[in-house]
Order: sequence, then C-alpha cells, then structure tokens
Amino acid sequence: MKKLAGEAILLRAVDFGESDRIAHLLTPEFGRLTVIAKGARRSFRRFPGTLDVFNHLRIAGRPGRRGGMAFLEQAILISPFLSLRDHMGRFALAGYLVETLDRMAPENGSPAEARHLFEFALSALRTIEKTQPDRRLRLLVELRALDALGLCPELRRCVRCGRPPAARAGFLVADGGVVCAQHALEVGAAALPVHLGTLRALQQALELDWDRLQRLALGRQALAEAESLLFRFHRFHVGLELRSETLLEESLRGDSLTPRAPRVDTPPLQGRPAGWPNT
Ligand SMILES: [Zn+2]
Repeated sequence: MKKLAGEAILLRAVDFGESDRIAHLLTPEFGRLTVIAKGARRSFRRFPGTLDVFNHLRIAGRPGRRGGMAFLEQAILISPFLSLRDHMGRFALAGYLVETLDRMAPENGSPAEARHLFEFALSALRTIEKTQPDRRLRLLVELRALDALGLCPELRRCVRCGRPPAARAGFLVADGGVVCAQHALEVGAAALPVHLGTLRALQQALELDWDRLQRLALGRQALAEAESLLFRFHRFHVGLELRSETLLEESLRGDSLTPRAPRVDTPPLQGRPAGWPNT
C-alpha cells in the first residue's frame, strides 16, 4: 500500500489501549480500510475531535508494517454531518447505512469500485441529512446500497430464461431476482408475487439521481411488496442481521405501514394462485 492521503468516511471507531483509537474508514482509493490512530485521544492537534462515526475526513497516514494495520497520522474534518446526530430517524438510517458498508464493503476492491462506493456513501449521507426518513427512504437507500456493493437483485429479466416479465411476475429469492410468469408457476410457492409496477419503480430507483430519487412515487402496495422481497433477499444473500436494525425499526415505527418484521412471515404463493394465468 502506498502512503495514505485523501478523503474518507468514518464507519466505526473504537478506543484501543491507553490512548489509541482504531477506525474503520471507507476511502475512494482503498475501499474499506482499518487504521490505528496512535495517541489519538491525547492529540487534539492531529485529531481535533474527528474520529467519530459519519465524519467526512481528509486523512494522512502510512502503511502498516508487514501488511499490518495502517497508521492514521492525521484526520481533518471536511463535514461532520451534524444534522444526522440531532434526529433519531436520520441517525438510525445513517447508522444502518454505515454498518452495512462496514460489514460488506470490500477491503481490496478495484479503484473504480472503491470510488463508486465512496461517492454512493457520500451522496446517501447528504440525502439522509436533508430528509425526514420514512420506510420509503429506508427501502431506497437499502436498494442503492446493495447496488453500490454489487449485490443488487436482478429486476429486469427472468433469472431462469432471461426474458423480461411481460405479465405477472414472481421474485425468486434464492436465485436473486425476478422470474417470468411461466417460471413463477414452475417454481410454485418459492416465488413471491410481485407487480410489474413495483419492479419498474425499483428499476427507476436505481437509475435516478438522488434529487429525483427523493421524488420517486412509490404507492403503499409497491412499498410493501418491495420491502418484503428486499428483506428476504437481504437475509438470504447477505445473511447478516445488523445491530443498527433494531434502532432503525424503532425510529420508523410511527410510519404508515405495519412494522417490518412480521411481514417476513407473509406466506409466499401457494401452488397456482387465483388470478394467475393457466398456461
Ligand atoms: Zn422465465
């Protein structure tokens, strides 16, 4: 690794020993990076209160010895994202986002991937900072995070035959995406029913810039369907239950839809449901 210099977002930090701090950073050059800041809790000059979660930083440091943890020598604040800290909903959603990145961002991804992921994280935090988070924003941030991590479900084409679903579609969690009506019938109960309108809205959500994304219309039915399939997709393919999820659920409890957890038990299609094509 070459000398550390550039921007970073702080994903997590813990005290270590008498005066050090270990920080997990997301950087546009190295992707996720764990560093040790020696004497950080004593040196206000090198770390003027900067090693806290969400902080957008300008950092300087040097590689670790024999491939060990890199040394962070200085961190200067670019933005503290202050308004993420004074509102429970914003804090909870931003916390969920940075924990997702801390657990799933690659440590040695390609420079292009690292830059893309960093830009995503910065844009997402700036968006959350300006909003009043609700279930819709949580869904959109989660979908965009999966996309930025290269883990997005296939929403355009049947994962079994490659054809775009033309009528009713299903979502096959284990295969990671949508199935056409014919393949939904073949796999039976494994396919979750999903309306084409929901799939189109999710496709749009991946293409819009953040300003337009905030105005994307998502009806109650589409939101409920999208939440259900994304939740199951996340559990199956990512497999992590994040610690920040409990706080996030708590902060969104007043939002219009029923709490998220019970929807996991919504039964999938049983055999051939009423109203589905016979052929
Ligand atoms: Zn198909």
